[in-house]
Amino acid sequence: MSWHQLPIALMAKALAAKEVSSVELTQYFLDRIEAGKHWNAYLDVSAHLSLDQASKADKIIASGKAGKLTGIPVAHKDVFVTRGWKSTAASKMLEGYQSPFDATVVSNLGIPDELNPNGAGMVCLGKTNMDEFAMGSSNENSAYGPVLNPWNSEYVAGGSSGGSAAAVAAGLAPIATGTDTGGSIRQPAAFCGLTGIKPSYGRVSRYGMIAYASSLDQAGPMGKTAEDCALLLSAMSSHDPRDSTSLADSGEDYGRYLTQSWIKDSANSAKPLEGLRVGLPKEFFAEGLALEVANAVNAAAKALQQLGAELIEVSLPKTKLSIPVYYVLAPAEASSNLSRFDGVRYGHRANEYRDLSDMYKKSRTEGFGAEVKRRILVGTYVLCHGYYDAYYLQAQKIRRIIAADFQAAFEKCDVILGPVAPDVAWRLGEKSKDPVQMYLEDIYTLSTNLAGLPAMSVPCGFNTSNLPIGMQLIGNYFSEARLLQVAHQYQQNSDWHLRQASEGA
Ligand code: GLN
Repeated sequence: MSWHQLPIALMAKALAAKEVSSVELTQYFLDRIEAGKHWNAYLDVSAHLSLDQASKADKIIASGKAGKLTGIPVAHKDVFVTRGWKSTAASKMLEGYQSPFDATVVSNLGIPDELNPNGAGMVCLGKTNMDEFAMGSSNENSAYGPVLNPWNSEYVAGGSSGGSAAAVAAGLAPIATGTDTGGSIRQPAAFCGLTGIKPSYGRVSRYGMIAYASSLDQAGPMGKTAEDCALLLSAMSSHDPRDSTSLADSGEDYGRYLTQSWIKDSANSAKPLEGLRVGLPKEFFAEGLALEVANAVNAAAKALQQLGAELIEVSLPKTKLSIPVYYVLAPAEASSNLSRFDGVRYGHRANEYRDLSDMYKKSRTEGFGAEVKRRILVGTYVLCHGYYDAYYLQAQKIRRIIAADFQAAFEKCDVILGPVAPDVAWRLGEKSKDPVQMYLEDIYTLSTNLAGLPAMSVPCGFNTSNLPIGMQLIGNYFSEARLLQVAHQYQQNSDWHLRQASEGA
């Protein structure tokens, strides 16, 4: 097996056994990034910065002070600000922007130093492409061009964390960070055959994450296995006083249940999921779901049943409303968050203008792409006096009902299982002319962000064109370790997650 095919859990063992150095691993991935430029997965790579971090990691390993992740390379979505690498959120507005500080996610994972004594010691490989300001479902909204799907380069990689997904799927990074406001970790993970988890809102600090919709934004890992995601999430998450919605630090090891049976000390090792109640929401299997996706997710449900789980039908009656609710609330928050990009405080400034208001107008017109402008307009509209009650307030009320629906379902089950998306990846350009058609693709992922629940994407099959299919596991608040356990038990008994993208391998 080559290094890029190895889960980070095994890479960590090879580093600890001194079978490979961090510098060698980092160089290996930098070479693959260079050879794999056509995927357009990265926006900024700086070999000397990565190699400098790798040699620091090697020193830590040599000193005997290495942690679980020391020396392992990681790619960061370009929404996280980084010292060293440029941070643009894939927007022309921030072209060339150099942040003076690291996002908390970046420092939590990074090489320890005086400023950051608790860093996990990972090596940054660079910044990955994304939909501009994380607005999109296909990565076609990047100002720097779309990301191609490593399973078939005529298809989208998904979005908005498409660069992170393609980087891992094509073997240009062993693992990557992503963010998920309405599905942006789970959907590209599903489209590229990866495992990814969006944690409960507040688990991972948003400090230094370029804000899209602050009440929904949450960061998480995208990797090859549930075990790898558990490793990365344990290091990413922390309490952060600089993020007012950050949860108290539970110091959790999200991998603590991975190899356990659902019922602790159960003697029935053939049925590790005995006692687990899996809820299948009937609204997630209704009209609009591609048959091949439905079949793959149903087969995965059967596989969980074989492992001892009980399948129960549940209902999430307001599922359809999650689309209008999200597409009112997220743009409303975006219109406010993006007001800072005015050519004065942040961002591109037009060369020529008549007066102050003309300068704002020209700078924003030139700096933002079409989808970002559309959302700023929608967001400003739904917040304005006279329409606020009809749209924003109404959406907030339904948001509460959507969260209550999940709580009712969790009375009957421990985890919810469904598809991540209605279909597999689509052809580049196929939906980009019609924003509403694109928004409808988010139907199964938006509601968990509205409710703040943890949810993950796990590979569960392929369609007849050999494009990956993902299943979604949704848990109650703070049940990440349990979700990862279910996914891990499934992965011990399936090999979908081990398949390699043919064009990328
Ligand atoms: N596709 C959704 C949107 O365009 C979600 C994006 C995200 O999660 N960042 O808003």
